Amino acid sequence: MGYNHILLVDDNESIHEDIESILSNSVSKEDEELKGIEDELFGSSPNEQEKAANLVNYEIDHAYQGKEAVEMVSKAHETGNPYALIFMDVRMPPGMDGIETIKQIWEDYPYTEIVICTAYSDYSWDKIVSNLGNTDKLLFMKKPFDATALKQSALTLTTKWKLQQEAISYTEKLEEEVDERTSELNKLVEEHKEMKEKAEKASAAKSVFLANMSHEIRTPMNGVIGMTDLLLETDLSEEQKDLARMAKRSGESLLRVINDILDFSKVEAGKMEIEYIPFKIQELIEEVVEMITFSSDEKGLSIKYSIDDDIPNRLLGDPTRLRQVLLNYGSNAVKFTDEGYVSFEADLIEASGKERIIRFTVSDTGIGIPEEKQSEIFSSFSQADSSTTRKFGGTGLGLAICRQLAELMDGEVGLESEEGEGSNFYFTVPLKKIETDKKTDSDSQNKEKKLEAIDKSLRILVAEDNKVNQMVTTKMLEKEGFVVDIVETGAEAIESMKKNKYDLILMDIQMPEMDGYEATEEIRKIEKGTDKHMPVIALTASAMEKDRKLCLQAGMDDYIAKPVDKQDLIKTIKEVMEMDFSLSNK
Ligand code: ADP
Repeated sequence: MGYNHILLVDDNESIHEDIESILSNSVSKEDEELKGIEDELFGSSPNEQEKAANLVNYEIDHAYQGKEAVEMVSKAHETGNPYALIFMDVRMPPGMDGIETIKQIWEDYPYTEIVICTAYSDYSWDKIVSNLGNTDKLLFMKKPFDATALKQSALTLTTKWKLQQEAISYTEKLEEEVDERTSELNKLVEEHKEMKEKAEKASAAKSVFLANMSHEIRTPMNGVIGMTDLLLETDLSEEQKDLARMAKRSGESLLRVINDILDFSKVEAGKMEIEYIPFKIQELIEEVVEMITFSSDEKGLSIKYSIDDDIPNRLLGDPTRLRQVLLNYGSNAVKFTDEGYVSFEADLIEASGKERIIRFTVSDTGIGIPEEKQSEIFSSFSQADSSTTRKFGGTGLGLAICRQLAELMDGEVGLESEEGEGSNFYFTVPLKKIETDKKTDSDSQNKEKKLEAIDKSLRILVAEDNKVNQMVTTKMLEKEGFVVDIVETGAEAIESMKKNKYDLILMDIQMPEMDGYEATEEIRKIEKGTDKHMPVIALTASAMEKDRKLCLQAGMDDYIAKPVDKQDLIKTIKEVMEMDFSLSNK
């Protein structure tokens, strides 16, 4: 057995001899007695061999003064054979006394077990505790010693010390392992951080790429759709009209694909923002029905809708996104139905406080979806049957976007369908009830009336560098009776504005020399301090939300994304002409 290193500290040589003889293994009557106690305390040894092993051998060192003891303790530690136990005399003239010595030893080696040996009660236990602190490392023994008690204490205390050492080294090992794991974890965290940064960079690059692509595609699409629109308003034979209509529809479906991809990546990048504005559910559904009527009429499908009477007339939510989901469901229903009907339904599911949970359902009597495909149909790029793609087209993104949008609005999507029978696609969404405000209602009615009465002979300046788009916009505006001037750069727009009197400017964003932002900022600078305000509407192929914000920041009054929809253009012009700018230059 190791670790039975003992130090005796006493200025009296005879004490050393006494203790050493007691602790040495000469078998005496007292030893037998001790063995008996040991057996009782720690369990009896089962065989002779083990008995022999249990015989304790102490390695005993001697010190005669406190200072010497302190030095020996640190030396023993340095040589890797520390003292488990020290027998310490209290009075050791002329040097340090025992208590001071213990204090010094414990400063560096707090685990050392110590037996204080004293002949006098010169130090009370309380005094010792107040000097050394409350400790379990200290035993008090009066001289002359009782041999059995001494042997027993030596054995107990060295064993205790040994166990403590084992516990310490076990703890150290654990700490080492924990440190190792922690550094492994830290490394992983670092790696994840790097990966996240890389992913974020890649995602940012993707967004820029998409924005650019979207811009590049939208510009010519504006020409394609706008021109076919204009073409359709000319004198055409029936065959030519059919061809032009098909060209227009192809353009529109290409645009839908681009919009889908853009929307999808916007949601993925967390850039899609949900609005909370008042709207009417009936108007929303009617708009969607109107939008799909053209294609449902072609197929001879009937369209119907019903709205739960308990749903409040006006609600707070995001009508644009709700319309998008409904339109997606609705177009799919028409696309995958050859006969029968498509129906829209809005039901009140739950009402608490002002919250109303509404379920919108779009049902059809179409081809249905096989059960095994139903669970994945809302995932991106998923289509029930690849042959339908060939037949009907589509990207498989529509329903994924519906799900994302519904979830962004704190709702959820779902479907019930039977192959060959039809499908019910639904989504729930929490909306807020708003008290009908008569004033705003009548306000908007007034506004609508005013809009109808707008002056049709407005003089409009169009700043646009693309020749095709110049033509599209000019024709659209001229058809409405507006007078149109064209310039190609922002600088020219400012020049022209100084020379002529315009009612409104339609400003492209990307133009050579001076872009639309700069030009508008310049216009606002010129107007500063005056009571003039030139209405400016941005006309841009950049369709991201941030572009819209940038336009408004630059001082533009509204924003239209290309390809320009004629109705949208006229509506926006009317709205901007109705705005009150009286405070804008202050
Ligand atoms: P896609 O652009 O391909 O239409 P969606 O995500 O809108 O993409 O739809 C995914 C697939 O779900 C479709 O390709 C079709 O297989 C199936 N699907 C969607 N709506 C219906 C429906 N009303 N009836 C039958 N199948 C449908």
